[in-house]
Amino acid sequence: MNDMNGATDKSDITEEDIGHILTIIATDGYYQQAEIVKVSCPACGEEFLGTKRHAGGFIAGHSAYHEFENSLDDIIQNLGGA
Ligand SMILES: [Zn+2]
Repeated sequence: MNDMNGATDKSDITEEDIGHILTIIATDGYYQQAEIVKVSCPACGEEFLGTKRHAGGFIAGHSAYHEFENSLDDIIQNLGGA
């Protein structure tokens, strides 16, 4: 759904918007000239569709999460295995 300024609500982004430059209204701000990208996590394959700003958060979040998971595995192994 578009408002009078031609801005798109973040929740209305679809695969058809990939590569397009849009003005996005998100809960954390107003993104002008935002390119819509699709990224997937190399560790678990989860996919994200949205602005680069949010894709960065997705990647950083997964990176931190999987690092955390791996560190737990290491700790368990150091304790002699689960
Ligand atoms: Zn992941």
